[in-house]
Amino acid sequence: MSTLFNEQHTKHHQLAALIIASVLLVIALCLAPFLHVVLPEVKPFLPIYATCMVLLEGLTAYLLLSHFIANRLLYFGAVAAAYLFMLPLVIIQLMVFPGVFSPSGLLNAGTQSAVWIWVFWHGGFPAIILLTLLTERRGVQLQAAGNNLLWVWGFLLVPLALGLVFALFATWHSDLLPTLIDANNYQQLLHSPYAIIVWLVNILALLCLIRRSQVGGIMPVWLSLALFASLLDVTLTLLAGQRYSVGWYAARVSSTFSATIILGVLLWEMNRLYRDVQKDNVQLYQLTMLDALTGCFNRRYLDKRLSQELAIAARQQNCLALLILDVDYFKRFNDTYGHLAGDQCLQQVASVMRDTLQRPADFVARYGGEEFVIVLPDTDVTGAMQVAERIRQLVQQMSISIDNTAVHVTASLGVAVSDDGHILAADLIQQADLALYQAKAQGRNQVQLAIL
Ligand code: GH3
Ligand code: MG
Ligand code: MG
Repeated sequence: MSTLFNEQHTKHHQLAALIIASVLLVIALCLAPFLHVVLPEVKPFLPIYATCMVLLEGLTAYLLLSHFIANRLLYFGAVAAAYLFMLPLVIIQLMVFPGVFSPSGLLNAGTQSAVWIWVFWHGGFPAIILLTLLTERRGVQLQAAGNNLLWVWGFLLVPLALGLVFALFATWHSDLLPTLIDANNYQQLLHSPYAIIVWLVNILALLCLIRRSQVGGIMPVWLSLALFASLLDVTLTLLAGQRYSVGWYAARVSSTFSATIILGVLLWEMNRLYRDVQKDNVQLYQLTMLDALTGCFNRRYLDKRLSQELAIAARQQNCLALLILDVDYFKRFNDTYGHLAGDQCLQQVASVMRDTLQRPADFVARYGGEEFVIVLPDTDVTGAMQVAERIRQLVQQMSISIDNTAVHVTASLGVAVSDDGHILAADLIQQADLALYQAKAQGRNQVQLAIL
């Protein structure tokens, strides 16, 4: 399930949403005495506002539908529908708004068209948000049954068509609707039942969402904030009673803020998913390239990297050293102290080898069982023998604590060095293995160099 509905982090998000809501409320209260003050009619304001709304609502709906396609949770489709419903209303309101494109508005609109579109828009959005609560049962999100594509088209086209019908009805048949505005003054709206209905639907949606957000999940928390900003928008608009007043301008800013919130949450979620995928990739890489017991690279990594290092050495005419280390009498060690102690010994040997290597290009890989391969690019015989001898000594000095007793092991090493990288990886390993065999044969706990 999407993390937008996980219980985790809900408390932090509730607190953040509460702080933002309080700030919005304080700003609105500060503006309260000036709501009626009429400001200059800034011509570009409405086109900018409508463009912002279309972009914000469109992007929000797109991301919500993407979520729905990914996880088939009806909730996302339904919330997307609420945002899509507003799109035709915003666009057509801008077109019919007196004084924007033409003095009386486009599309043969009536004087009441824009204000009725506002009523449908601000009543419709919270009404659809209320319907989205039907997409869950006791906090469990319902999934879409049947053809997903049909659902997607449904969530896309039905709200767009519905919004368009309301917008065009208000545009062409506003004469059938009661008068709510006189020039720029819409005091009548405030005293009409429609204002109360719009206001009550907003309040009801907000209260239901706040109740829902207590169950858990960050999406309902932020949707509550979006509805709160939307309620402020409605309240400021109604109380202002006049277009281009302080309250009217402030309401539109609040409305833009409301449209931004869910978009912000969805972008935050996408960013989080991206980070998770990156983290998973690192883990997957480690699983495929590292040996689980010792943390050294594994055989697969060795095969790949050794060939690469040999190719580099061949191109640059550099030498490359390869060491094979094998723990002496390890079977006996296992038989005496147990397999777990054997594992601990291998981990300590691996750690000694890793700590000894100094150059960034050097690496250790577990070759199998208790055998390790160390690759030292750009290292000649003298250097390789020094490293091998240092490792041999450190393993000998190493103390393995088993049941509070210090136990010691030794290791034998075979060293093979290619002067110019012109050798197959398998051949170089075989040479080092022969040298290791020699070290074993000559009494163990020693380093032997292969004669290439
Ligand atoms: P030599 O000195 O000739 O190398 O003798 P050895 O006993 O070390 O060699 P041998 O190859 O006969 O035994 C290797 C042992 O390593 C056998 C196997 O049980 C043990 N072994 C291999 N992988 C692991 C492992 O992951 N954990 C543990 N504890 N033991 C392992
Ligand atoms: Mg062995
Ligand atoms: Mg061994």
